[in-house]
Amino acid sequence: MPAGGPFPFPVYPRAVRRLLGSIDPLRIALGLLAVGAASSCSGAIGTAGPYDVVLVTIDTTRADHLSLYGYHRPTSPAIDALAAQGAVCLDAWSQAPNTCPSITSALTSRRAPITLVRGNPEHLDAGVPTIGRVAGEAGWRTGAFVSSALLWKKETSLHPGFDVYDDTMTDPCWGHENAQRVARKTIDAALAWRAQDDGRPSFTWIHLYDPHGPYSAPEPTPDLDASEPLLPPSVDLATWRGAKRIPKYLRVPGLVTPADFADAYDREIRYADDQLGRLFDTLDLSRTVVAIHADHGEALGEDAYWFRHGNLLHDPALRIPMVIVGPGVPAGRRVASRVRNLDLAPTVAALAGLPPIPDAEGRDLSSLLADPDEEPAPVAFVAEGRRREIVKDDTGIDVRWKLRYVDSAGIDVLWWPAVDERRVAAGTPRDVVTAMDSMWRWLKAPKADDGPDAVDPDTEAALRGLGYTAPSETTTPTPR
Ligand SMILES: [Zn+2]
Repeated sequence: MPAGGPFPFPVYPRAVRRLLGSIDPLRIALGLLAVGAASSCSGAIGTAGPYDVVLVTIDTTRADHLSLYGYHRPTSPAIDALAAQGAVCLDAWSQAPNTCPSITSALTSRRAPITLVRGNPEHLDAGVPTIGRVAGEAGWRTGAFVSSALLWKKETSLHPGFDVYDDTMTDPCWGHENAQRVARKTIDAALAWRAQDDGRPSFTWIHLYDPHGPYSAPEPTPDLDASEPLLPPSVDLATWRGAKRIPKYLRVPGLVTPADFADAYDREIRYADDQLGRLFDTLDLSRTVVAIHADHGEALGEDAYWFRHGNLLHDPALRIPMVIVGPGVPAGRRVASRVRNLDLAPTVAALAGLPPIPDAEGRDLSSLLADPDEEPAPVAFVAEGRRREIVKDDTGIDVRWKLRYVDSAGIDVLWWPAVDERRVAAGTPRDVVTAMDSMWRWLKAPKADDGPDAVDPDTEAALRGLGYTAPSETTTPTPR
């Protein structure tokens, strides 16, 4: 199917049937408005809907540690049950291994060279709409519920278009009293807001932070039966230097061995899943599009990188889960094609009857989800990281910036230029040259241009609590 476009085949009769099936006149009116908006933007007939949307972002979650993706422990029974009613994307990727750049790309369907959000946190330019803003301007009731100080609206500007952007942090982390919020409280807030139905379709974005380090799920920790955690097969245990050598913010009493940490990580995932189950129990999937994804994964020792993410563009940080359920998505669908977080917003918009996401770089996957015989053109994948400052990680590597490109044929390139040397090999694909050009301009730009944004003292303190190096520090090893 064409990249980024709505259904290329006639869908009007189905859309009409769905609209007529609704008993809510306001929903019908909004649906017609949305169809009209879609038509005016694309020149094509619009999609079904309007439907409610629930977009769930789970921080720091590897697909291969969800039972949904074959992990041997019962880490995700609620997600598993929901996913059985829709589509599971088996080859999903994030464009960035850290929170704010990745989430901004997912919400806008634009890569970091366009959003210019390349650090934690940075402001999104007011001219770049998120899917939340698209929904709000189309008449949806909109609420965002986030769980990390990283996503405070005063530092990210992700809130325009949301009627409610709840960024209340209630839980401590390493001495800061309001650095994060556990999933139970975030889900409680979202459920309370969703219960205030005023007849309009709703758009809910929920961000859960629990699987992010430190791994310390609230008591009682979820029961994962007697099974033992598994470390990835490529992990070399000889690279483990002991719990005292990992970043301070990750240290939790009682976690000593790699197996201890992996076990605690699994329990954080299960805790988030348990809380999501309370949300899923309230959803009417005949009129709700649900999308679940992660902003990035987590290294569990691969490449000698223990219980962290952010500095490496390797698979553990970039491969993510992605589940899409709702009207137009057949139950039991398994999608083998490569998909990206960039594709999430255009796809959700199409399924829910929202107007298209302006200037989306991602693809609308709705027809791929609906039709198992659909064979989309292979898509290239670009990830980049990360910051302007000179930063060396535990291994002494300059982790300041790098770019990974996987072309449509699967050719995998990691570009990691020296500090002042620009090297683009002959034959480098055009897409990656474009991305390199953008990154190079950004690197060379004056600091006041699109470099790291200043944060206020309270944010700086909260970010220290979460283990982030404040933007004003330029030489300290960072955990992300
Ligand atoms: Zn994150």
